Amino acid sequence: MAFPNQTLPPPSKPTAAPAERPLDPRVSASVRRAAALLEDGLEQRRPVALAELMAPLLHQARHSRCLRADALSVWESRGETHWLPRFRFQRTNAVKERHKFGIFAGIHGDEPAGILGLMDFLRELDETPEIGRHFELWIYPVCNPGGVLAGTRESLSGKDLNREFWRGSAEREVRLLEQEIVKRRFDGIISLHSDDSSPGFYGFARGDVLARQLLSPALAEAEKALARDTRPFIDGFQAVNGMIHESYEGILCAPPEQHPQPFELILESPAGAPLADQRRAFTLALKAVLAEYNHFSAYSAGL
Ligand SMILES: [Zn+2]
Repeated sequence: MAFPNQTLPPPSKPTAAPAERPLDPRVSASVRRAAALLEDGLEQRRPVALAELMAPLLHQARHSRCLRADALSVWESRGETHWLPRFRFQRTNAVKERHKFGIFAGIHGDEPAGILGLMDFLRELDETPEIGRHFELWIYPVCNPGGVLAGTRESLSGKDLNREFWRGSAEREVRLLEQEIVKRRFDGIISLHSDDSSPGFYGFARGDVLARQLLSPALAEAEKALARDTRPFIDGFQAVNGMIHESYEGILCAPPEQHPQPFELILESPAGAPLADQRRAFTLALKAVLAEYNHFSAYSAGL
């Protein structure tokens, strides 16, 4: 895999690391500083290049024993280099069964809270790897790099990428993500979005009852940062206590032929809320999903 510039590290080779090692506090502090600068830029609506956006995470990955960085693909478009960044968190290199989740953000290019929330989440995982015990997490923080660069919901070709999945789309990002989702066969898929018409945090639970069991504590945790959207109809869908069970066609999800189907959650922050609160709500919700899934699988194993 070629990398577009010096800011991207080569994918780190697996090394023998029998025990977890949390992120060095100095690295952690420098990642926080870089992320804060980035947030200032986004709040001032300054265009942020992908390399700049990913710099804190790439810096972190270079110093981490648990986090690896690479790209799904690198390509040129309209004189800009684009790539689809991918990160993998795994607490140790021990070979064992792990719960494999895919977590996606930035498929709408004008929703920075999910991207920044994922960066916070990965930093916290690296600072306290125990949170990620039993998991293999594949993280795609910028699924629509052209749209993020332009600050638009749509891709550079003008498509809403989150209506294009499993429909024979010609969009490069969609095809790359579809191939990746088929290859990884995730146990769970989580997408982060922001809604500019919502007064509070809410979510979609797709699939069987497990998705609802995970969404409920995730929304409860997110309430420590942001109020919940309790309207009976959200985004045109019937909702109960911030939970929706239908969704649009063509959204990023598992292929219809995957069996068993993974649980699928979509977390939506209110885009008008302070960015820091949206980020914190995402981080709290994601940690709650991991904790609840561990709880659930331990219970299942004990049956
Ligand atoms: Zn969105």
